[in-house]
Amino acid sequence: MKLNQGHLVISLDFELFWGVFDVRTLESYKSQLEKVSEIVPRLLQLSDTYNIKLTFATVGFLLAKNKEELLQYSPKKKPSYSDANFSPYRLYDAIGNNETKDPYHYATSLVEQIKQNDNHEIGSHTFCHYYCNEAGQTEEQFEADLLATINIGKQQDIPIKSIVFPRNQINESYIKVCAKHGILSYRGIENHWMYNTKDTKQLGNTKHRIFRLLDAYLNISGHNTHELQMHHG
Ligand SMILES: [Zn+2]
Repeated sequence: MKLNQGHLVISLDFELFWGVFDVRTLESYKSQLEKVSEIVPRLLQLSDTYNIKLTFATVGFLLAKNKEELLQYSPKKKPSYSDANFSPYRLYDAIGNNETKDPYHYATSLVEQIKQNDNHEIGSHTFCHYYCNEAGQTEEQFEADLLATINIGKQQDIPIKSIVFPRNQINESYIKVCAKHGILSYRGIENHWMYNTKDTKQLGNTKHRIFRLLDAYLNISGHNTHELQMHHG
C-alpha cells in the first residue's frame, strides 16, 4: 500500500458502562447499553458490506470473562487520581460476576463475535478507561494499565497494536510508553468525516446516516490514526 493513499479506518470506543461510569448512573444508561449487543453484529455485517475495517478500541475490563479474571489481570499500581470518582476500581464490589449476570460490565460474547469475524481489529481503550491528563495519576500507573491490557489480550490471542485514549486525553510522554510496548498507532483528535457539515451531500447519504446512528450507541469518532514513529526522539 502506497503511503500517499488514504486509508479509511474507523475506530469505535467499545466500553459499555466503563465508558461513562464517572458521568452517568447505570440506571440512566441501561437502555442504551442494552442496544450494544444488537448493534455489534449489525455493524460487523455493514462494515463487511462496505469493506471498511473497524478497530474496536476496547476497554481492557471487557476482555475479562468474569470477575476472577478481572481481578487477576488488574494492575497492582492503580491510578491514584486526586478525584477518586475517576477510578472505576471503586465499582468492583458492585458489579456482577460475568456477562450473563451483568451485561453492562462484561462483553464476552461480543468480543467473541468480533474475533470470529476476523476482518477487524481489537485495539485498546486502556484497561480501566484511564484518564491520561487527570491530576494525581502517574506515568508508572499508566504503564501498569497498558501492560494489564497487553497481558489480558495475550491470553485471548488478541495482539494489542493500537490505542484510543479515553476522553481523547493525550499525554505526549505516555505515547512513548505505548511505543515501548509495541503499540503502533493511536487515535488523534480530528473531526470525524461523518460529522463533516461542509459537505451536506455526503451527510445525507445512507452510509453516513447509518454510521451516525451507530455513533449514538458505540461512540464512533475520529478517523485519523497516527504513526508512533513520528513521536520518537
Ligand atoms: Zn471511552
